Amino acid sequence: MSNETTPGERLYAIVEQGLCIGCGLCQSIAGSDSIRVSKTVTGYLQPVVTGELDHATVDRIYAACPGTRVEGLPERLLEADTKQDNVWGPWRRMVRGWAGDPEVRFEGSTGGVLTALGAYLLESKRVDFILQVKTSATEPSFGEPVLSFTGAEVFEAAGSRYGPAAPLLDINEVLDRRQPFAFIAKPCDISALRNYARQDARVDELVKYWLTMVCGGYGTPQGTIEFYKRVGIDPDEVTALRYRGRGCPGPTRVETTGGAQEFHYIDYWGEDETTWTLPFRCKICPDGIGESADIAAADTWIGGSPNRVDSVDDPGVNALIARTRAGEELIAAAATDGALTLDYDTVPDTLSVYQPHQVNKKYAAWARHQGLADSGRIVPQTERLRIRQLADELPAAAIRFQREGTRQRVEAGKASEPTPQTWKP
Ligand SMILES: Cc1cc2nc3c(=O)[nH]c(=O)nc-3n(C[C@H](O)[C@H](O)[C@H](O)COP(=O)(O)OP(=O)(O)OC[C@H]3O[C@@H](n4cnc5c(N)ncnc54)[C@H](O)[C@@H]3O)c2cc1C
Ligand code: SF4
Ligand code: SF4
Repeated sequence: MSNETTPGERLYAIVEQGLCIGCGLCQSIAGSDSIRVSKTVTGYLQPVVTGELDHATVDRIYAACPGTRVEGLPERLLEADTKQDNVWGPWRRMVRGWAGDPEVRFEGSTGGVLTALGAYLLESKRVDFILQVKTSATEPSFGEPVLSFTGAEVFEAAGSRYGPAAPLLDINEVLDRRQPFAFIAKPCDISALRNYARQDARVDELVKYWLTMVCGGYGTPQGTIEFYKRVGIDPDEVTALRYRGRGCPGPTRVETTGGAQEFHYIDYWGEDETTWTLPFRCKICPDGIGESADIAAADTWIGGSPNRVDSVDDPGVNALIARTRAGEELIAAAATDGALTLDYDTVPDTLSVYQPHQVNKKYAAWARHQGLADSGRIVPQTERLRIRQLADELPAAAIRFQREGTRQRVEAGKASEPTPQTWKP
């Protein structure tokens, strides 16, 4: 897009072309007088221009937004003995495990390892607080950023939230505290803050640990409304939604003015990957596996989804991928001190059995990005994610299929969002 367009139009192009995941960083870059990332009429969290915006600011947003730029692990964190897997990226250790405290294991999304590690970082005084996401106080299906200073506060934030969440809305205020902290969030949120580190030196100085989950994508607002309707709940009556946790995956619990009802994870997501309703950005995601984090935590269901029978009494087992020396050391120390229970070490091929959808997406990402280029769309800039290299392993027909599929999706309007307008109740 040329600079003849206005700064606001350039910002909105990210949203209109389906690349915004609503992380909140552009509000922090431009200032909340210029951009507000808030719920729009689409039901997503998206930036709305509310004041003066110039091209230089939008240039900074394009350089940091995870819709337009995604990079792998910073080169300085790659050690000579760090292993590299073409699909799973840099890794030093892959190990199955769960939270040492049974209550944390139960409450957590899978085996509670992210909650256990967050609490351990605080208890061992490695950091002063954790920047993470808890259930929104105002929107039952959303997450909202929170600073957790105690293990109890980290515990409060346990559980995956599959709706929109903007952890980087106030990152400048968080950095202004000048205290060491850890960041727990989705891979794209981690990418955003890693990108922002190139603009604000305080990020690398203060963010001591970067923890993430392996992520297949979040649920669309429309998909959540359709779920409510499928199970006979009036969306307007919902007062609270807990997607999972309290077992693995644990119940999807919906509270309404008339009481609480529990459903299965499969009632929300469907039986397998083919039934997932995802934002377009998630469909072309070049890094759902958290390549730029110290540790990525995953589920361990064979084939990528739970089944209704085996999940009844499943206490939850995570797979942990330590990508950096800091991540590897943290897992070992947490296990020694009882915060984590480790099961056995594993390997990339096993991760692929747990996460076939991540393997498919990683292979398809480059071709899908070419489909965007063919359509004259913004193509996310990627570095150190090997997506071109992986595409070279595919037969030409598979690349054509993915590339043409994306082009057709764009042409059919399935990769477009309206210009953001603030939602008014
Ligand atoms: C959108 C989404 C998609 C996912 N897709 C996959 C997948 O394809 N494959 C897979 O193996 N696992 C996936 N997961 C991860 C899985 O659900 C677990 O989160 C992961 O196994 C860690 O489990 P845990 O028990 O350690 O988490 P917990 O101990 O319960 O900790 C969860 C942590 O995640 C943070 N968090 C929760 N929701 C959000 C959010 N929306 N944005 C930012 N931070 C959040 C919380 O603050 C908390 O710190 C996904 C999670 C999310 C949120
Ligand atoms: S992804 Fe984040 S930085 Fe990019 S436009 Fe959306 S809210 Fe802004
Ligand atoms: S699939 Fe990628 S873009 Fe979508 S939420 Fe997960 S990390 Fe973010």
